[in-house]
Amino acid sequence: TTKRTQQLGQTTCPYCGVGCGVDVIRQQDGRNASLKSVAGTPEHPANFGRLCIKGTNLLQTNGAENRLLSPSVAGKNVSWDTATGLVAEKIKDVIAKHGPEAVAFYVSGQLLTEDYYVANKLMKGYIGSANIDTNSRLCMSSAVAAYKRAFGEDLVPCSYNDLEHTDLLVLVGSNAAWTHPVLFQRMERAKLRNPDLNVVLIDPRATDSSTLADLHLPLKPGTDAALFNGLLHFLVTQGHTDNTFIADSTNGFEAAVENASVWSTAAVANYCDLPEASVIQFYTMFAKKTTAITFFSMGINQSTTGVDKGNAIINCHLASGKIGKPGSGPFSITGQPNAMGGREVGGLANMLAAHMDIDNAEHRKNVQTFWQSPVMAERQGLKAVDMFERMAAGDIKFVWIMATNPVVSMPNRPQIEAALEKCETVVVSDIVANTDTLAFADIVLPATGWSEKDGTVTNSERRISRQRGLLPAPGEARHDWQIICDVAGKMGFADSFSYAHVSEIFDEHTRLTTYKNHGERALNLCGLSGMTVSEYDRLSPTQWPVADATCQGTERLFSDGKFFTADRRANFIAIQPAAPAQLTCEAFPFVLNSGRLRDQWHTMTRTGKAAKLFRHTAQATLAMHPDDAEKLSLKEGDLAALSAASSGGMTTILPVTLETRQRKGEVFAPIHWSKAWGSHCQIGALFNGANDEISGQPELKHAAVAIQPA
Ligand code: SF4
Repeated sequence: TTKRTQQLGQTTCPYCGVGCGVDVIRQQDGRNASLKSVAGTPEHPANFGRLCIKGTNLLQTNGAENRLLSPSVAGKNVSWDTATGLVAEKIKDVIAKHGPEAVAFYVSGQLLTEDYYVANKLMKGYIGSANIDTNSRLCMSSAVAAYKRAFGEDLVPCSYNDLEHTDLLVLVGSNAAWTHPVLFQRMERAKLRNPDLNVVLIDPRATDSSTLADLHLPLKPGTDAALFNGLLHFLVTQGHTDNTFIADSTNGFEAAVENASVWSTAAVANYCDLPEASVIQFYTMFAKKTTAITFFSMGINQSTTGVDKGNAIINCHLASGKIGKPGSGPFSITGQPNAMGGREVGGLANMLAAHMDIDNAEHRKNVQTFWQSPVMAERQGLKAVDMFERMAAGDIKFVWIMATNPVVSMPNRPQIEAALEKCETVVVSDIVANTDTLAFADIVLPATGWSEKDGTVTNSERRISRQRGLLPAPGEARHDWQIICDVAGKMGFADSFSYAHVSEIFDEHTRLTTYKNHGERALNLCGLSGMTVSEYDRLSPTQWPVADATCQGTERLFSDGKFFTADRRANFIAIQPAAPAQLTCEAFPFVLNSGRLRDQWHTMTRTGKAAKLFRHTAQATLAMHPDDAEKLSLKEGDLAALSAASSGGMTTILPVTLETRQRKGEVFAPIHWSKAWGSHCQIGALFNGANDEISGQPELKHAAVAIQPA
């Protein structure tokens, strides 16, 4: 008889930035290991035992089917030695012929912090270019830039715990009920417990999050900066500013107020297409409540003015002193499980590791000295949209895409396809065998995924948690960090990329956070340095900064009124609201908004495996106001064809659902489906790649489209 044993493993859900802890029962039958069940980790501070439907169905999304199991070159299976040797040779060859900036990595918020760390180290310190960017560019890069402008560093001030201490929750550009469900449940509980808690939803659509809202502001898409400029003006003119805090802890107040001064409640109501009484009601709530949290997400960030919108929100918290105190602060919530961890190790083209600044020569020297690396990127690299544009132009000759599917997720599919066709060598590391991007790969590398790989992730509240390897790698799949280190070794850098265990990478990351900058920057992981392998394995969820070994983590930033700018004061930013780039016209008269559904994740490469996750929404549909549908002679379920000026003739076909919750003239469609799912729907292709000139984050909430019966 085969001996069967069961064991509890603790890990973190990979499907959103809430970062829920997951208890997994692992079963061993002789030589075979499998996962038997999942449940929320009762003591994990992000979820206290709760999981949403994606988390509950983790095992159904984690099946063995459709996995990449062997490295291959031009469709033929090869050994790892051959594959990584060829990748190294191609990179060296391109550097020799065209220089380091002809090489690019396009990585992912799915990577663990340790994977991200070595990818960034290889690119910036050994290849010598900063052309490493990530799909997190599409998720939260505008929030990063807004925080940097206001606070001097990319810092999320709040914790989920603040929900239990606030009297006002403002949700702007976020359908948390669907996209961050466990966090939304916590908001619901907070409201049940606190009768004084008001919730305001600011979103063009009356999403499921509106069930919690005392007030919904269905503003005209793209007008958020004017709404918050108006709030700043209201706070000033109605005497609700915290003048001591402004005087002691900030710069730039007068200029921001001057820019906001034209935004009377009447002007805001007119510009944002809202009833003036609703605008006044929101402003009065914010002004009179002693605490307020403003949660913001993709509706703010995915915009050509996403950074300004973020700063317009932050300005209001600074002006009212609603920051650095329990229950108060601006709070960006990230879509991906490790968008934050990637930021911490510099996995963006405009950042260095450990929140150091790539435009600062001293920081570049510090990082190079710490790494003892032969070179160092001298300037910012190409952000995602620019990276693919330059690839299409023939300037990028080699790209390595890790754990992401840009052909579907990036805007302007024709351009992405042209870029990958043009690029001499396309390497794709992934876990699944059926992404649209794989069709363009010359070299395919099978990676390990959730439940197989070991490392850390950081959630939206700066909490570092462990993802733990509970199952062996399938086939010949390898961990991303190992693949990257093997390639680095074959390029001649084995001494700097020889890690016996993933914990050594984490340790190096923690040491870099305090190397020559101790006390100056908030990202300080000193207290997590020097862990043994077993201490790393037992690491409990911890919010950074962790300044020393006695520190249990930091719940809230800026409690002392000190920020991380040169003079330790926060910056107000004077905001001039601007319209979206992709405006409607006679030929393309509808505004297209895109987003996620409750039960699907990204391009469905994993959630598409679970039949249960199609019960809530079986197929992609186009949500449209009944009056618009009638004008187009469309009824519920009829097929509609969408096209945009930029879609290169590509048409997306979707069945119509009639929704009175949609504003007239505006439609909504989900981002998840693509050709790989046998669908004629590919929403990303209808956006033209217009992006914020500071953050580079593409506008994915506002395209101009034509619609007709299909
Ligand atoms: Fe996973 Fe997010 Fe759901 Fe939590 S809320 S179970 S992290 S998808």
